[in-house]
Amino acid sequence: AAKENGRDGCVVYTAELEQRTNQNLLLQNDLRNAINQQQLMLYYQPIVQRDGKIVAAEALLRWYHPKLGFVSPAEFIPVAEHSGLIIELSRWVIAEACRFINSLAAKNCVIPRISINISARQFNHIDFVPSFLSAIAEFQVAPAQLQLELTEHLLLTDLSVIQDKFEALRQAGIAVAIDDFGTGYSSLSYLQHLSLTQLKIDQSFVKQIGCSHKADAIVSTIVNMAHALELQVVAEGVETPEQRQFLLNVGCDSFQGFLWSKPVPAASFTELLTQEFLQPEHGNQ
Ligand code: C2E
Ligand code: MG
Ligand code: MG
Ligand code: MG
Repeated sequence: AAKENGRDGCVVYTAELEQRTNQNLLLQNDLRNAINQQQLMLYYQPIVQRDGKIVAAEALLRWYHPKLGFVSPAEFIPVAEHSGLIIELSRWVIAEACRFINSLAAKNCVIPRISINISARQFNHIDFVPSFLSAIAEFQVAPAQLQLELTEHLLLTDLSVIQDKFEALRQAGIAVAIDDFGTGYSSLSYLQHLSLTQLKIDQSFVKQIGCSHKADAIVSTIVNMAHALELQVVAEGVETPEQRQFLLNVGCDSFQGFLWSKPVPAASFTELLTQEFLQPEHGNQ
């Protein structure tokens, strides 16, 4: 009867939904312990200039759950945001990125700029800017060695409040990028009012380069607009030589994607830094 029809689409769907809800609760509880139990790691993905020179690295949070294995940040960041744990989590991320910068300096490595993702909830916290600046001062990390990546989601807040925060960060010498540019359904007017340094073209556009004339047009338009506004442009999620070539042709400044390297643990990233230029590796995925 019904039980034997367990493979019926509806039944499986319901079970999956229930499983998801339970999993989110479970994640929320376990995430509280993740910091203390040293289950968090930062991976680093190189960002290269047109000639392949590593100019920056994006720090990407990884959680190794003792039972579930690696849980994707796309899954646990929203849980952390929802529960407010994001504040504690991001404190750890900022400290860990500073420790990494200092460990590179101790090895006499050339230190690329480290780019950190900041969620809207975190940025909107009243203390965000002063607490960020005092955290990096504590580690004696120079502001020029850091960049923040913010998404258009935070633009839902009162622009004048955000404007002051952007100004304070830029005054302190922190570079600020808009991440996933072009996907946030926001008006472009913020580009006129916020003190920014960089736009990161969303992967969804990059993926369609060469497959859709419209995507091609959007990508080249973003590059032209950014340059007219004196902003740097990074393309994210570059996977193929054809995408790279198109981006070079339209004048994109830097690139990030599996074509050069996946995000890797700190030790492997330090290895990568021994190469002055990264070669794009055809079909390495
Ligand atoms: P994001 O900031 O847009 O990061 C880029 C994502 O694209 C990363 O996924 C990266 O692994 C992936 N990626 C890079 N190159 C390629 C490529 O060539 N192909 C494909 N298919 N993917 C590529 P990841 O690490 O899973 O992170 C997902 C999102 O989670 C990030 O998107 C960011 O929004 C968030 N996140 C990660 N770490 C943090 C963190 O420390 N704090 C906050 N607040 N959010 C974070
Ligand atoms: Mg990012
Ligand atoms: Mg992105
Ligand atoms: Mg994203």
